[in-house]
Amino acid sequence: MRPRLAASALFLLSLAASAQTAPTAPVAPAHGIDLAGVDRSVRPGDDFDGHANGTWSKKEEIPPDRASWGVSGELQEKLYAQTRTLLEAAAVSNAAPGTLERKIGDFYASAMDEAAAEKKGLAPLRPALARIAALKSRADLATYLGEELRADVDVMDCTNFQTSRLLGLWVAPDLTTATRNVPYLLQGGLGLPDREYYLSAAPKMVETRAKYRAHVEAVLGLADIKDASARADRILALETKMARAHATRLESLEVKNARAWPRADWARHAPGLDWNRFFAASGLGGQAVLLAWHPKAMAGLASLVAREPLDAWKDWATFHAIDRRAAFLGKAFQDEAFAFYGRTLSGATERAARWKRAQDWMDAFVGEAVGRLYVERHFTPEAKAKASQMVKTITEAFVRRIDALDWMAPSTKAEAKAKVAALYIGVGYPDHWGDFSGLEVSRDDLVGNIERAERLRLQQQLAELGRPVDRTAWCMNPHIVNAVNLPMRNALSFPAGILQPPYFDPDAPASINYGGIGATIGHEISHSFDDQGALFDSTGKLRNWWTKEDLAHFEASGAQLAAQYDAYAPFPDLHVNGKQTLSENIADLAGIAASHDAWLTSLGGKPAPVLQGLSGEQQFFLGYAQSWRQKYREPLLRRLVVSDGHAPDKYRAQTVRNLDAWYPGFDVQPGQALYLAPKDRVRVW
Ligand SMILES: [Zn+2]
Repeated sequence: MRPRLAASALFLLSLAASAQTAPTAPVAPAHGIDLAGVDRSVRPGDDFDGHANGTWSKKEEIPPDRASWGVSGELQEKLYAQTRTLLEAAAVSNAAPGTLERKIGDFYASAMDEAAAEKKGLAPLRPALARIAALKSRADLATYLGEELRADVDVMDCTNFQTSRLLGLWVAPDLTTATRNVPYLLQGGLGLPDREYYLSAAPKMVETRAKYRAHVEAVLGLADIKDASARADRILALETKMARAHATRLESLEVKNARAWPRADWARHAPGLDWNRFFAASGLGGQAVLLAWHPKAMAGLASLVAREPLDAWKDWATFHAIDRRAAFLGKAFQDEAFAFYGRTLSGATERAARWKRAQDWMDAFVGEAVGRLYVERHFTPEAKAKASQMVKTITEAFVRRIDALDWMAPSTKAEAKAKVAALYIGVGYPDHWGDFSGLEVSRDDLVGNIERAERLRLQQQLAELGRPVDRTAWCMNPHIVNAVNLPMRNALSFPAGILQPPYFDPDAPASINYGGIGATIGHEISHSFDDQGALFDSTGKLRNWWTKEDLAHFEASGAQLAAQYDAYAPFPDLHVNGKQTLSENIADLAGIAASHDAWLTSLGGKPAPVLQGLSGEQQFFLGYAQSWRQKYREPLLRRLVVSDGHAPDKYRAQTVRNLDAWYPGFDVQPGQALYLAPKDRVRVW
């Protein structure tokens, strides 16, 4: 559940990209601690991240085309370069038509053809814009909104709550039995990342809002749409009303809010939108029951469809039809998209090179096909075997921790252990590859390729409805620097992208691997037991498997951890939301604890060797903190604090303050900022 790094929503595609010029020296040495990055003037007990990463942070500049920079970015650079070679080869391979290599090569060629994009102007969007212009009634609007539905959101696996379409579709196991796939509908319609961006009175938010309004006007103007200014006002007003109807980010995490509504009852629960037309046009007309993940927002948005002027809806639809594709059009549109999404919302100062943006697009729309080429070339059976073995040892360590919990009843322990035993673990890449045989790819039609790929995904997801759940399915690309827990499948995925140095390096000391990828493996296992994961049993079913006393203890520990993170404030006017980030923080804490245990076990009773003048404990914890080193530009950091489920990486590094083993190795004393008395250290698992 939930990625290790912030997932970039589709609308931010072109800026998740990384440096055009990679640093000449690696950020960290290949095997071991980056001693030069440590700042000895900062005491570990005052600021462990500042100690482990302070000198690195002072020296290192965020590349101009990035909104953040750190260990993960460095690895991402390597993946970009490796993937570029594969894509360029595919593009000139002249492979047989219909083969995966040909499709990937043609897609890449279309994405790289900037001159064609310039020459075509708005032509690729003309049919879509004409479709909107022809809407004459609310009935037409309902059909249009249904036609526009895509499988573009994800509640609990790869976690993405943002779509600029009115609603988003997530196809996933049903909550009550977890045996069949059902459709979940989520709130949407906003161009900004979250309702807070529309409603908050904070000066930074007010400023971003004004820039968004200017962006809307600019995009309409570039498309030669008359009265762009008045239309921008109307669009903002409409989206602000949608934002008021939206659930908050925190409410979005509440599984208990979801409602299973029979199709015929949607009109009663959420009057205003012609749901029959909407469902028929979206391909959901045959479903007996559909899940409303945001039931209140469904009602609010449907009522706006009835109440707000049709012309306002048409303006809104027109803007998003262009804005969603702006990065794929000519230079003026690309520049405007970057100015707002890149500069204003993220803080990057330069756009990434075209070949990196092309990869980002392909990762978003045909990522598994690219990943398949990637792992064939760059992920060895040996790496798969070694990583699988590490997952096994950390899983065993987690089970031993469950056994050792003094507060947990034997019946709850048995259920927890059953859950670990039933975990499906994917390493490197999925067991079954996605089917792209139905995808038509044209070498000179980037927008068309993207639209067809989106539709194919929708069709494939719709085809899954009612079918038995495939526990081996992935939501992530194999070549991504990330990992994930899929709670309703009781499954984990560790993509090939992250199973590489510096996170995972067969030649590095065990202390570094367990502090790096080991903590991430533990983190993903622990998601099965965070505040969300603990709601689901070993089969992935939503079921309370806790005794009352155990649940009370678990929730009290969670509240204690939430309070710890609430106190972290990256800006004077903005602090971390301890509840919004609780799942991730529980997973971090339990993950590093399990990995630490597994590391000690791996030593077989012998003391860890002293390396680089550091004890084993120092290597483990410094390795952990260095795996989280990250610099952010302010707009991105603010956006993450508002809308992401993870705490900023700096605070993730400070998690160590809850582990007894961290204290002696760094001589942490009472009175230091991170010091917690033993009774105040949070011990969840
Ligand atoms: Zn996580």
